[in-house]
Amino acid sequence: TTTVYYHNDINEEVLQNKKVAVIGYGSQGHAHALNLKESGFDVVVGLRKGKSWDKAEQDGVEVKSVAEATKAADVVMVLLPDEYQPTVFEEQIKPNLEAGNALAFAHGFNVHFNQVVPPSDVDVFLVAPKGPGHLVRRTFEEGAGVPALIGVEQDPSNQAKDIALAYAKGIGGGRAGVLETSFQEETETDLFGEQAVLCGGVSNLVKAGFETLTEAGYQPEVAYFECLHELKLIVDLMYEGGIENMRYSVSDTAQWGDFVSGPRVINDETKARMKEVLEDIQTGKFAKGWILENKANRPEFEAISRRENNSQIEEVGRELRKLMPFVKGKSEKEKEVVNH
Ligand code: NDP
Ligand code: MG
Ligand code: MG
Repeated sequence: TTTVYYHNDINEEVLQNKKVAVIGYGSQGHAHALNLKESGFDVVVGLRKGKSWDKAEQDGVEVKSVAEATKAADVVMVLLPDEYQPTVFEEQIKPNLEAGNALAFAHGFNVHFNQVVPPSDVDVFLVAPKGPGHLVRRTFEEGAGVPALIGVEQDPSNQAKDIALAYAKGIGGGRAGVLETSFQEETETDLFGEQAVLCGGVSNLVKAGFETLTEAGYQPEVAYFECLHELKLIVDLMYEGGIENMRYSVSDTAQWGDFVSGPRVINDETKARMKEVLEDIQTGKFAKGWILENKANRPEFEAISRRENNSQIEEVGRELRKLMPFVKGKSEKEKEVVNH
């Protein structure tokens, strides 16, 4: 059975005499740095000059260059965008690591797919919060936390797991539960979850429903409310009490429709496609495509983003949300522009 570690099970002593460098101050970086600092740990942020540097200074955290922060630290948490980690690691982090240091990540991608190859004399672990960085910060401030996975890839010190647990506690993960995993399991399940269910699955389910209604002649505004807006309520119910709780709350008609029509939309065929998606992740095919797309300066990524952002569902939604003051004023994307 799986062990879940909670706040009070974890002894953070092993991290108390160490300095932690948080490299990057974006979604995850700001949350890790501020939460660790408020948990009493010694934190320095590593950055280049720019928006994040200014923000970190305004927030009152110590900021240095990536190289200087790495030099100063015992534990180096790499929270740069995954695409830029290999270059920054080679040029600024690796030359400044010492034997006995620990190198940490919030996602296993680069280590698992050989884009970052750490020296063998440093510990390598991951602490992966299972939620966006803004929630890692907000829930911490509220006295709660986001669940986290920890995993150890290299352990020359024999302390890597204890350091990872202490780190996870420091960012608030212990309040929600910390589970042990491996770089492989974290990487493959994270990619699968975001592709097949959380991001790709949900966005395409919503779009297909919206298009089915509008193509049948129904008003786009009505289709938007039905297929996108109401999703939040349904997800909140599942988050709080599982699928059973959602089904308990909706009408019996909705529940019966769920039973008889849900399996017609998401069926064995869908599951076969999911298995293909998983296979591409496991074989490294997806990783290779994404790495090459970045090397080519993201031609497809940018083209698809533009097309998607101009689709009818997005345009209708933008107009409708202006008239709904009860919907959170700004999206996370708009807040970023203000904050940075
Ligand atoms: P962001 O894109 O939000 O943050 C990037 C940060 O890195 C910014 O502060 C940026 O600063 C800095 N940066 C970028 N390039 C450089 C560079 N060349 N030198 C120095 N600093 C640089 O990243 P995320 O927080 O989304 O992701 C970080 C890691 O966390 C990834 O491994 C990701 O997979 C993982 N993760 C992310 C989650 C999330 O919620 N987003 C969830 C779980 C894991 P600047 O202002 O100068 O550009
Ligand atoms: Mg992910
Ligand atoms: Mg309804």
